Amino acid sequence: MGQSVRDSNCIFCKILEKKIPATIVSEGSDHIAIRDVSPQAPSHILVIPSDHIADIREFKQSEALGKLFQTATSIAKLEQLESFRLVVNTGAEAGQTVFHLHIHLLAGRAMQWPPG
Ligand code: 5GP
Ligand code: ZN
Repeated sequence: MGQSVRDSNCIFCKILEKKIPATIVSEGSDHIAIRDVSPQAPSHILVIPSDHIADIREFKQSEALGKLFQTATSIAKLEQLESFRLVVNTGAEAGQTVFHLHIHLLAGRAMQWPPG
């Protein structure tokens, strides 16, 4: 098993390395899932790949990307979320604030469409 790619200035890398605390929902060799510190829905979980990848455009391994979405979906099932929304903000204008790829798993309230 190889070493994960990390960026020492990245908040999610620090969480992956347990240098700053987070409420962990699930953890594996390829990801960590944590509760968002500023939840935008009753359930708001972030599914974060172990390797530091700035955003989805930089993710070159389609199999690993598919697995990350499967992980998010499995967590939704484990958390007994009947309806949920998976969101990947990409670029600052789209609302990305942490430049380490992550999937938002949002659930527990009615969602608006189109999203803001
Ligand atoms: P983005 O805006 O990049 O799509 O999402 C980043 C998310 O990370 C935001 O929803 C924000 O609340 C969350 N976040 C930022 N810093 C921390 C932190 O230190 N801990 C946790 N659990 N979530 C964080
Ligand atoms: Zn990172």
